[in-house]
Amino acid sequence: MHRESPNSFGIYCRRRYIQVIMTHIDLSTWRVKAEHAFQLKNLATLPTDSETSKDAENDEWPELFQKAADKLEKLQLMLHAGKSKGLLLVLQGMDTAGKDGSIRSVFSHVSPLGVRAEAFGVPSEEEKRHDFLWRIHRKAPALGEMAIFNRSHYEDVLVPRVRGWIDKSVWLKRYQHIANFEALLHDQGITVLKCYLHISKQEQKKRLQARLDDPLKQWKLQGSDFSDRQLWPDYLEAYQEAMAATSSSNAPWYVVPADSKRYRDLFLAELLAHTLEKMDLAFPPKSFDLSSVQLD
Ligand code: AMP
Ligand code: MG
Repeated sequence: MHRESPNSFGIYCRRRYIQVIMTHIDLSTWRVKAEHAFQLKNLATLPTDSETSKDAENDEWPELFQKAADKLEKLQLMLHAGKSKGLLLVLQGMDTAGKDGSIRSVFSHVSPLGVRAEAFGVPSEEEKRHDFLWRIHRKAPALGEMAIFNRSHYEDVLVPRVRGWIDKSVWLKRYQHIANFEALLHDQGITVLKCYLHISKQEQKKRLQARLDDPLKQWKLQGSDFSDRQLWPDYLEAYQEAMAATSSSNAPWYVVPADSKRYRDLFLAELLAHTLEKMDLAFPPKSFDLSSVQLD
């Protein structure tokens, strides 16, 4: 009988696990069920980079990622050309969860034509005088577009809640406004996907420390990063309730294990490609008879 050493067997299991989760990706595992209470703290933030790397020779991750990215590129081109459907990807997560990083890596593989990333920070004075969806709606994708939101309308059921600026009755009503808004987008032909990038508090500590230490990363730091970290359990509670209240078949939430950047990026690329595939995209009909063209 062929026997492997515990070490190589360990590596084999790990690779097999990665192959299984990524090639027969059952996205429903990470999908939040509507109205289904859950505890974020019980969900995995792993696999970590150390688990998923750097076994140079047998490292299949770049290849898997490239495959997903190629698929994504082709499908996005069809979305752009067809102009009959759109896609909105909402990215949420604690500071350093990888919202900027995943936008950089996943979307560097698609043409900037028809793709738009929008970031939402603390509302301006003007924005505060409007309803919370006002600034969001005007940045929603048009048909033919893919928009990625780095933070979103969900901030309005998180920050003011955790900071004690609004009462429960207000955030419960906001869940309804959000559900109706996302239903409106869906009816307009926009597929809505929402991802919570799930990192552990220990991983955030490492990433915040790296930002403190690196002059090229210090610009990203804000005082609120540290005060929000103090409120970690409150944010997790606010997130899990908001996700359970607003995950629907038309606008599902996914909890993406995000301690590993490679895994996170692969997951997002797969999820997007899979979603676009299900949208039955097509190139527009030809506007004239191509066979009649004679090139001189
Ligand atoms: P960052 O995305 O980390 O660069 O910073 C944006 C900051 O703006 C974060 O601290 C967010 O929590 C905050 N923010 C975004 N939207 C809102 C909102 N609607 N209300 C309050 N704070 C917000
Ligand atoms: Mg921040």
